[in-house]
Amino acid sequence: MKELYQEKILTDIGGNLSFRSIEDPKKYFWITPSGMKKDLVEPEHLIKMTMDGEEVDSDSELSPSVEWPIHLRIYQEDDDFQFVVHSHAPLATAFSILAEPPKIPPLTAELGFLVPEIIIVPYQQSGSTELGDAVAELLWDSQTLILENHGVVAVSEDSFQNAAIKTRALEEYLQLYLNIKKFGEKIRPFPGFD
Ligand SMILES: [Zn+2]
Repeated sequence: MKELYQEKILTDIGGNLSFRSIEDPKKYFWITPSGMKKDLVEPEHLIKMTMDGEEVDSDSELSPSVEWPIHLRIYQEDDDFQFVVHSHAPLATAFSILAEPPKIPPLTAELGFLVPEIIIVPYQQSGSTELGDAVAELLWDSQTLILENHGVVAVSEDSFQNAAIKTRALEEYLQLYLNIKKFGEKIRPFPGFD
């Protein structure tokens, strides 16, 4: 988490993380708290929630991130989803605000593998169940999704690092696209992908 904060992918107010409970992965997940600066969050600040969206220790002074419905709906969608990174990564967030986002082709082998397609989740209010539903619906197309006028969600089945890598890859992909556009208009898509 601190790494992502230093990279400015997580900001003071933007972004949150969660993962399934190791002991009881089908019943619980842990999520970062609301309103705490991201570089100050320690393991003891994490909030445990049930797969019905209830806080386990409701006496805690901290409350879960307001974006918890996104995380909950991802875990409800499939038992294999283990880790979720939601961020307001700068380039992806800027891209999410475009009225007519360009269709970007695969650019290199690695990025084409990590970000096969840019998929944008239609706008729903932050923190709403509707946003969680909209994310869950599109996870079958990509496990890295841009949220319209908002940010990014990346999901991993095996490690927190992989969810972070997917988020970084999307930023890298958009940065590369911006750089290419400075050189010229026409792009030759990476040939290994359709
Ligand atoms: Zn957000």
